Amino acid sequence: MANWPARAAGNPTASAPRRNVPPQCEPPLPSWHESLASAIRNPATLLQRLYLSTSLLESADLAAHQFPVMVPESYLARMRPGDINDPLLRQVLPLGDELLETPGFVRDAVDDEASRIAPGLLKKYAGRALMILTGACAVHCRYCFRRHYPYANEPRRLPDWEPAIQALTADTTIHEVLLSGGDPLMVTDLRLKELCDRLEQIPHIQRLRIHSRLPIVLPNRVTDELLDLLTATRLTPLMVVHANHPREITGDCADALRRLVRSGMTTLNQSVLLRGINDSVDTLKKLSERLINLGVIPYYLHQLDRVQGAAHFEVDEATGLSLIEALQRQLPGYGVPQYVREVAGAPAKQPVGIESTL
Ligand SMILES: *Cc1c(COP(=O)(O)O)cnc(C)c1O
Ligand code: SF4
Repeated sequence: MANWPARAAGNPTASAPRRNVPPQCEPPLPSWHESLASAIRNPATLLQRLYLSTSLLESADLAAHQFPVMVPESYLARMRPGDINDPLLRQVLPLGDELLETPGFVRDAVDDEASRIAPGLLKKYAGRALMILTGACAVHCRYCFRRHYPYANEPRRLPDWEPAIQALTADTTIHEVLLSGGDPLMVTDLRLKELCDRLEQIPHIQRLRIHSRLPIVLPNRVTDELLDLLTATRLTPLMVVHANHPREITGDCADALRRLVRSGMTTLNQSVLLRGINDSVDTLKKLSERLINLGVIPYYLHQLDRVQGAAHFEVDEATGLSLIEALQRQLPGYGVPQYVREVAGAPAKQPVGIESTL
C-alpha cells in the first residue's frame, strides 16, 4: 500500500483531507484505485464467491476469453449468494449463449466508425460530440454495445488528443462535449482536469457531460476531489450514470448518487432493457422510484443494440412499449425514461414505436 503508484507519484489529491472523515477506530475506506485493483477478474472466483455450482464454468471461461470478466467487490456485495438468476450477476456473468452467432447481430452495431471525425471523437448529432476517453471499465457488462470497439486505436495522453481538440475548435456548432468510453471516470483526476482545462478554452463549448457507470459499480470513485473538479469549470457539468436494476441502487451506490446530486450537478440515468433482468413493470418502476427519490432523473431506456454475443438479452419492442405504457400510468412524468433505440445514420436516438425521422 505504501508504494501505491498514485501516492508515490505525489498525486496531490490522494492524501487530501476528506469531508465526512470516519472515526479514528475504523479502518480507512479503500481508495477507488484499490477497489479497482481488487475487482474479480475470472469466472471461477465469481461463481465461488456466490456459492454457485461450477457446472457453468466451462462455457463461462470460453465466453470470458472473448470479453473478460470484471466485477468490483462493491457490486458483488449487492448480489444474492446462491442465486444464479440474480439480476446483477446476470449482467456480468459470461454465458455460453454469447458464443452463438445470431443473424442481425454484428460487431459494430451502432456504426461508430462512420461518425469518427478525429481520433477518439465521434459526432453523430447536432450540437454535441463524444470523446472515447478510454477503453477501460470497472465492470464488464455482457450486453455492452462497444464490446468489440477497437479502443487500441484511440488517443490516450493529452497531446494525442490535439487533433480532436482542433476538430472541436473548428466546429462552432458544437456546444456540448460528452466524455464516454469505456468509462471516462477510469482516468485519473489529473488527466480529467487537464482535458477539462483544455475544453474550457474553446469558447463555443458550454456543457460537459460524463457518461459513467462508475458511480453505480465503483461508488468510491465519486470523491470530493472529483466533484470539486467537475463543478469548478466554466462548463455546465452533467452526469449520466447507468443502472439497470433497483437492487444496484443501495448502500454505497445510493450515497454516491446523493453526493452527485448535492454537488449541484444535473444527474441522469440511462438503462438498457434486458431480458430476465429488468423486463418487468415492477422492476422498472422500482428502479425509477429509487432514482427519483435520490434526485436522479431517468433519462433513457435503451432498446438493446444488436451487438454480436448479446442476442439472449433482447426484449422485443412491443413488450418494451407495453412496459413503458404501464410506467406512464404509475409514475410522475419525470420518472418515466424515454424508450429509444439507436438507428445508424439517424439524427437522434429514435423513440421506439414512432416512425424514424430519417
Ligand atoms: C448517444 C450519443 C450521444 C448523446 O445523445 P443524447 O440524445 O444527446 O443523449 C451523443 N453522441 C453520440 C455519438 C452518441 O452515440
Ligand atoms: S460500463 Fe458501459 S462501456 Fe463499460 S462494459 Fe458496461 S456498458 Fe460497456
